[in-house]
Formats: sequence, structure tokens, C-alpha cells
Amino acid sequence: MNYNINSIRSDFPILEQKIAGKPLIYLDNGATTQKPKQVIDSISKFYSEINGNIHRGVHQLSQFSTDAYEEARQKVRDFINAKSETEVIFTRGTTESINLIAHSFGRRYIHRDDEIIISEMEHHSNIVPWQMLCEQVGAKLRVIPFDKNGELCMDDFRNMLSNKTKLVAITHISNSLGTVNPIREVIDLAHKAGAAILIDGAQAVQHTTVDVSELNCDFYVFSGHKMYAPTGIGVLYGKKSWLDEMPPYQGGGDMIDTVTFKKTTYAELPLKFEAGTTNYVGAMALGKAIDYIQHIGIENIETYEKKLFKYAAEQLSLIPDLRIIGNAKNKSGVISFLVGDIHHYDTGMLLDKMGIAVRTGNHCTQPLMTKIGITGTVRASFALYNTQDEIDKLCSAIERVKQFFS
Ligand code: PLP
Repeated sequence: MNYNINSIRSDFPILEQKIAGKPLIYLDNGATTQKPKQVIDSISKFYSEINGNIHRGVHQLSQFSTDAYEEARQKVRDFINAKSETEVIFTRGTTESINLIAHSFGRRYIHRDDEIIISEMEHHSNIVPWQMLCEQVGAKLRVIPFDKNGELCMDDFRNMLSNKTKLVAITHISNSLGTVNPIREVIDLAHKAGAAILIDGAQAVQHTTVDVSELNCDFYVFSGHKMYAPTGIGVLYGKKSWLDEMPPYQGGGDMIDTVTFKKTTYAELPLKFEAGTTNYVGAMALGKAIDYIQHIGIENIETYEKKLFKYAAEQLSLIPDLRIIGNAKNKSGVISFLVGDIHHYDTGMLLDKMGIAVRTGNHCTQPLMTKIGITGTVRASFALYNTQDEIDKLCSAIERVKQFFS
């Protein structure tokens, strides 16, 4: 495999930074990834040469911007292998995508005494919108537990499914445990019970091939900023058959066909779900981030990251008193851990003093932490530009943290 890590790293200007006088080791990629210059430069070029509001103007800049926006939609479509570009809705990110589904799909199809199934390892953004919906319509939220290794209890899930289940909403990869969930099986089981299925791909699309047509999920959502694109842009993939039937989420410009004071008719997909001026520059830049990933090759990224992940897990587990949280057989992207009885926040603060950026806290998964009986973890999360050398430095730095507290 021709994976030129030095060349890749040189694409990311921020990696040249020093933090606390030390070369930056950025291991907070689960929160947000850094951006390659190809993406950064495209934004500057767009505003310098192309910018005009999309879909509304006859003038050339508006046409150029519209073309760039729709080209980005095609890139997303190809990237996740959606059947049609009309199945790709641009949103602000994973959170907005899930809220859109909860408002639109939820209000149309979920009624009193119906059930929504999520899991104990969901991010707050795949818990709270469903709780809000349940309160509003009188539906019930059911929660699949995970076992001591951090794997979904599939028997419990099977037993929960019934003709009351209207939607199952599950994360592809857990942002706190790193567990890769058996989503194919989850999707098939949900469908057999007659339920729709939403996959939260926020921690997956940047690490592995996602083929929504093959998966046959009803909805798949993700955020641009976790896959080398800017903040404020994300994707809702939805099967056309659902999106056609679902009511709009927000009203405003661009999502209409005709407006009179008596009645408004709505635009066709995908614009029906894209009210107002969207983040069209962000969408264009997401397209550039996809180009960047495709140029390296998502399979190559996956192979490289798997090796790196294995190395990190091995090296971290050699550190006495370090406890890895989440021991699923199939893990990716993030390693959560605690060092002795040192508070995760203290570990994170000291690592930062050594130029190492990790995340500490509950990672927006409070129920997961409560179940494990902890308040949070230290989380190292990886991207295509991380190296074994950085992991060695992380391990030495953790030893220094231990010495400091001993
Ligand atoms: N779902 C998962 C699994 C996540 O890790 C995150 C962010 O960390 C989100 C949802 C929310 O993503 P965003 O804040 O980009 O909307």
C-alpha cells in the first residue's frame, strides 16, 4: 500500500503548530478533525472568485455557486453510494439531521404508544431528540443495553422489537467506547419487525466504507467537520420513498414551489428540506474533503488506521494501572481510558501541557458513563494523519502523568 504519511501530514498546516512549546500531537479527532489545505484553500478561492447565493439568480456567480453546491451533492452521493442525489440533504451536521428526522418523520409516523428503540451507548444527539418526540406524541423510548465489553446485547434488542416499534436509531461506531456495532444485523432485524432504521454515522464515514444502498438503512447521518470538512455542514441520507412522504422540517425560501396566503406547495427533493440560505460554501468544501479522502482511498485509510489503532491499543494496555473502557471485539477510531485513580480531567490537562490534545469528560454520553459507574474518560481518537510515533509519545506522557501524581 502506498500510504505516504509525510506527504499527508504536510497537507494539514495546523499539525506544524507547537502547543506549550511542544510539537502538537492531535488526538481529538472524534470531536473534530483538522482540515487539509486543499479544503482550506477551496474556501478562500470560493469567496474570492465564485460566491453568489445559490438557486436564485440568473447571474453567473449564482450559477457557479449553484453548480458547486450540486456538484458537492453528487460527490456525497457517490461517497455513500446513495441511489439518487435527491436522497442527500445538506444539514448543519449529525445533530440537525437527527432533529430533522425526529420532527418530520417522527411527527408523521410515530404516535401514542408507539416505540422508538435506541441504545445505551448513544450520543446525546441521538437520545434527546427522541425523548422530546416521545413527550410530544406519547410514544415510548426503549433502550438496548450493552454488555461488560461494550457490545450491544442483541438478544435484548430482538426481544424489544415488536409491531409497536416504529424506528430504531443506533450509532454505527460509539464515540466513547469505539465499539463498531453490527449494523447490518440491526438493520435487518429492524426491517423484519416493520420498523425504519436510522444509523448515526458521525464516527464512521471517516474511517470505513459506507454504502447506504447495500446497508439498506432508511436514514444515515453524519457531520462534515469530523471528516476533514468545515463545521456547520453535514448530511442526512434518506431513502427517497420516505423523504417524498415526509413533511418539510423548516419553512422559508428555496423549499417552496408556490406560495400564496391561502396555501403553499413545496419544492421537490432535496430542496424541500433545505429552507433558507444553506451553508453552500461548507457543502462545496465537504465535496473537497471527499475528494481528499477519495484521493488517498478510503480502503487505504481504513487499512492504515486499523494498524495504528491496534498499535495504540497494545501500547496503552502495557501501561500498568491504565484501564481501557470498552473492550468490544470490533473497535475503531477511539480509545477511552482511565489512569489509576487520576481524574480524567487532570490527565487531559497534563497531557495538554506536553502538547497532546485528547478529550476528557463524558463525551456527550452521560447515560453510558452512568452505566459504567464513572464520570468520564480520557479519549484518544485517531485520524488518517496520526502516527505510531505520536502514540509512543502519548504513552510516555501518560507515564509522566502517573509520576506526577505518585
Ligand atoms: N453522534 C456521534 C456518535 C458523535 O460522536 C457526535 C459528535 O461527537 C454527534 C452525534 C454529534 O455531532 P455534531 O455535533 O457534529 O452534530
